[in-house]
Amino acid sequence: MSPEQISGLAWDKQGGLLPAVVQDATGGRVLMLGYMDRAALDATLATRRVTFFSRSRQRLWMKGESSGDVLDLVAIEADCDGDTLLVQAHPRGPTCHLGRASCFADAPENFLARLDQLVARRERERPPGSYSTKLFEAGTRRIAQKVGEEGVETALAAVAQDDAALLGEAADLVFHLTVLLRERGLGLDDVVAVLRDRHAAAAR
Ligand code: AMP
Ligand code: ZN
Ligand code: ZN
Ligand code: ZN
Repeated sequence: MSPEQISGLAWDKQGGLLPAVVQDATGGRVLMLGYMDRAALDATLATRRVTFFSRSRQRLWMKGESSGDVLDLVAIEADCDGDTLLVQAHPRGPTCHLGRASCFADAPENFLARLDQLVARRERERPPGSYSTKLFEAGTRRIAQKVGEEGVETALAAVAQDDAALLGEAADLVFHLTVLLRERGLGLDDVVAVLRDRHAAAAR
């Protein structure tokens, strides 16, 4: 956000404070709601750590300043009339002081985006003992073979009308497909982009 955009926000509407919805940049889960004054927004942009104005303490509050569970800033966007902020961030730990990932216990998220991110990290770091590491070490052909097997097992479970087995095999298939895509340097979001294009074409 440029200084002009910041000045253009509706600061005077609610006593100099804007509500700021914080969202996990991976998976989109709503994490918490805080309030920012201009100084908090400036500090957030300058430090790239999400900082609020604490109404109870009446001072600037960097989320995680005592717990260490900071929110690394990814992006900030104002709403249609400039009186609310949407903050995308990468949480370093649980955002809620009760130890939960989100202050909203049942906030929905795109779990596949988180799984994709985890698989990408396994590919980079190759931690010993991890099944994903074993797959990446075995290489493209072996992973492709696993995807084929899981695809057949999924199909057989459906034909056998065994829904529990179908779900288990479909989960195996999605996981191994995620690993195969990552082995090729691709992610589930790339598949979603293709599906979106087709959807847009169909809606035309
Ligand atoms: P922290 O900013 O994580 O170091 O936490 C410092 C204090 O801020 C905690 O003891 C809580 O009182 C409060 N706090 C932390 N996280 C939240 C949150 N997500 N919503 C409201 N208050 C919080
Ligand atoms: Zn608004
Ligand atoms: Zn909370
Ligand atoms: Zn299987």
